[in-house]
Amino acid sequence: MIDVHAHLTNKKFEGKLKNLNTELKKKGIKVICAGLNFEDNKKVLKICSKYDAFFPALGFYPDIVEKSEWKQELKDVINQIKSNNIVAISEVGIDYKINKKKEEQKIAFKKMIELGIELELPLIIHSRWSVGRVIAMLKEYEEKIKKKRLIPILHAFSGNEKEVFKAWELGCYFSIPSNIEKVPQKQVLAELVPTNKLFLETDSPYMSVNSEINTPTSILNTVIKIAEIKRMPVEDLIIQIEKNEKKVFKKIS
Ligand SMILES: [Zn+2]
Repeated sequence: MIDVHAHLTNKKFEGKLKNLNTELKKKGIKVICAGLNFEDNKKVLKICSKYDAFFPALGFYPDIVEKSEWKQELKDVINQIKSNNIVAISEVGIDYKINKKKEEQKIAFKKMIELGIELELPLIIHSRWSVGRVIAMLKEYEEKIKKKRLIPILHAFSGNEKEVFKAWELGCYFSIPSNIEKVPQKQVLAELVPTNKLFLETDSPYMSVNSEINTPTSILNTVIKIAEIKRMPVEDLIIQIEKNEKKVFKKIS
């Protein structure tokens, strides 16, 4: 199984990656490492070339638009994405909690959507306080999504029932985070989304359910919790999620 969204370049993992990789290999877990900006993307590439349970995704986090030279960084990240062998574009999206630079964020996210189409790479999307905006922007690409030329995966989606339905109807996938154990909204999300649209994620080291740092191994608890919510055998759910993984993340075998 794959943790489709983790930040293993975070300082909290310093000196721990070797052991983590060994543990993940033993448990059969693979991780898609998300990058946040040009420098972080470089670190993602480095750790993924070193450890075989890690797979690189490069991205452009919405906070970059606060820098005066954000347009240059956008160009640099686009080149970085085009010139490296990656499994997804992540982390990208819109965040109105971080800042309200709506036009700048839209410009950057639109570029990332178009890059996803051009390179045929799945897009793992952040949508904090901006669910309506993200869905509206993806709606402009509905035809491409329906033809599977664009594969949007909404990470830690916080939309209400109506918004979940809208995004699902549009053809989006959803990655369910490990904090589902204590967040009722995520439990409703897991209940609403059909199993053929589900992935697992941890957002490690964030979204821990206890006081320790979160690690990709917590997807093992997440899948049990989702199976319980969906009242289905956990083995069947794992089979379906692995099917989704094979279909969408073709480069990870
Ligand atoms: Zn993240």
